[in-house]
Amino acid sequence: MNVLERINFLKDEINRHNYLYYIEENPSLSDFEYDEMFRELQKLETENKDLITPDSPTQRLGSIGTKFEQHHHKYRLYSLDNSNNFEELTKWYERVTKEIGNNVELVCELKIDGLAIALTYQNGIFTTGATRGNGIVGENITANLKTIKSIPLKLSQSKSVDVRGEIYMPKNSFEKLNEENLKNGEKIFANPRNAASGSVRQLDSSITAKRNLSMFCYAGIFEDMSSAPKSHLENIKTLKTLGFKTNPNVQACKNIEEAIEYCKAWEHKRFELDYATDGVVIKVNDLALQNELGFTSRAPKWATAFKFPPEEVNTKVLDIEISVGKTGAVTPIAVLEPVLLAGSMVARASLYNFDEIKRLDIRIGDIVLIKKAAEIIPKVIKVDEHSRESHAVEFETPTICPACSTSLEAREGEVNLYCTNSLYCPAQIRGKIEYWVSKDAMDIDFVGPSIIEQLFAKNMIKSAADLYALSQQDFMQLDLIQEKSAFNIYHSIQSSKKRPLARFLNALSIRHVGKETAQILASHFKTLENICSTNIDELSHIDGVGEKIAQNIFGFFHDENTITFLEQLKKLGVEPNSEIFEVKSDILSGKIFVLTGTLQNMTRDETSEKIKLMGGKTASSVSKNTSYVLTGENAGSKLLKAQNLGVIILSEDDFLNMITEENIL
Ligand code: NAD
Repeated sequence: MNVLERINFLKDEINRHNYLYYIEENPSLSDFEYDEMFRELQKLETENKDLITPDSPTQRLGSIGTKFEQHHHKYRLYSLDNSNNFEELTKWYERVTKEIGNNVELVCELKIDGLAIALTYQNGIFTTGATRGNGIVGENITANLKTIKSIPLKLSQSKSVDVRGEIYMPKNSFEKLNEENLKNGEKIFANPRNAASGSVRQLDSSITAKRNLSMFCYAGIFEDMSSAPKSHLENIKTLKTLGFKTNPNVQACKNIEEAIEYCKAWEHKRFELDYATDGVVIKVNDLALQNELGFTSRAPKWATAFKFPPEEVNTKVLDIEISVGKTGAVTPIAVLEPVLLAGSMVARASLYNFDEIKRLDIRIGDIVLIKKAAEIIPKVIKVDEHSRESHAVEFETPTICPACSTSLEAREGEVNLYCTNSLYCPAQIRGKIEYWVSKDAMDIDFVGPSIIEQLFAKNMIKSAADLYALSQQDFMQLDLIQEKSAFNIYHSIQSSKKRPLARFLNALSIRHVGKETAQILASHFKTLENICSTNIDELSHIDGVGEKIAQNIFGFFHDENTITFLEQLKKLGVEPNSEIFEVKSDILSGKIFVLTGTLQNMTRDETSEKIKLMGGKTASSVSKNTSYVLTGENAGSKLLKAQNLGVIILSEDDFLNMITEENIL
């Protein structure tokens, strides 16, 4: 392919994806890959200026939809140039300072991943609201915008102003909308940005009203220039005074180094926000200097965006494996062509269950869009059907367990399939042992899946109890295990014999009993003997347990195999420590804590455990019911929310003083 052919190919592809993204709200490519293509086209055009045509996507913005009446913007709306590395940012700053002089003050703010909107106010009254469209003409969606509570219909002063901002859908509203749409067989949105765009471009405003949209405004163009703000920061402050919602995470930076620090900090902190951001926008603060720098055909020269590493990316499904968990639940897993996603390499993604494979119609060989669900676990969002090869065959739901060939069973009210061979299925037993040694359970260092796999293969263990009967010499029979490692493994196992009862109960992998319920049971019963001799009635009356779980727990402790297993553990000296629960006080009883930022002396898990041991609870988000927000370094939006709600904020030292001196505020 020569340069012209490549340019034409990129132009066609980018235009096709623009249509899918802006008009259909159904992108089939990740933003990361789109941006890569766009940058390649920009680069080729810069090197071959004679090949630039006015219809090139690098010379134009987005697309105009046809659902609504067209609206001609009074002031043009632009896009932003962007880069995903700090060298490019520095080069941008060098270009700026070369043109307007050194020591240019910058402002950094979050790039909200939503939909660009222009709002027009005449004498303080909201008159028109429109999408950006191609920057010159957008769609008039005033009626829909009027249903969004954060958009003021009347300003606090009777100013005439054109406001720029971003409509977004909070992450939890996005999850809920997709869950409901899934239930009702309606459209599933790929990300909060597409959901916001789809919601605000509804022909029926009552649907927009139900979608819990919000808007951050970041610039105003005032008709009366004499009283207009002189800097970007002043502009944001003025908008706030007029009644607009502005984003609080705005920071003045003396130079590009400070701006880069801001970008680095938000690369991680962004996950604490309840809205999506795809980067940081860096702007020249002084509006007169902005004016001097001006615009290219599609973006201001006085601003640029730093894009965070991708949260969504396309990759190929190489295989679909079936994994059998400790409870017998059978889960399909997509084996992927390894790809960088939100800062780490991803080679596998859970497909959750076989209904999900059918819903997404995933086939081996497909190109799929993946993202990190809850920012940690990779998840397949959709298949790019256009690129599917004709011979790709549908995946057949298995009928037997891949580890022991037992027939799989569907359980009422559950989407998973189960292997019922809980005693002898090697995959289930291995899963249970892996969980037994894990951080949340008996917390045994040095014993990971590969050691367990080998012990199993060599017939040295059949259950977690067998681990405690092995000697240091036994571990030296394993591949690559020398004396020092064998010593570490042995001592790590032996020193876990007296773990707290809550950990022990969690390690048992009782169905429906996780970390939280194990803690509740341990606090209530204090000893393992008490739990073994309780009855369903007592269990079901414990706050947080309930009838169904009570039956499971009772059934578990009266099962012959459990009894044998517990006896075996006891003989080997594995006896949970119940004292921990007796010596601690309940000084935090009734108090709800939210943790944010990095603590210096304790991990978050240890802190949560401490709080629970003292009768308190932890929650993941701040509300008016929160008693305290415990903050560490780089605390994020939770801290701001706490300040807004007037919740008591504790430093790590405050917290430690509080629990040692029983000095509850
Ligand atoms: P953009 O979204 O990358 O950046 C420009 C926009 O950022 C502005 O219009 C503005 O509305 C918004 N913005 C958010 N916060 C802001 C703030 N604080 N200050 C100023 N502006 C702020 O550019 P674009 O032209 O809207 O869209 C292009 C991008 O859309 C691409 O880079 C790509 O990521 C995505 N896209 C993806 C596909 C796909 O197929 N996946 C297709 C087309 C576009």
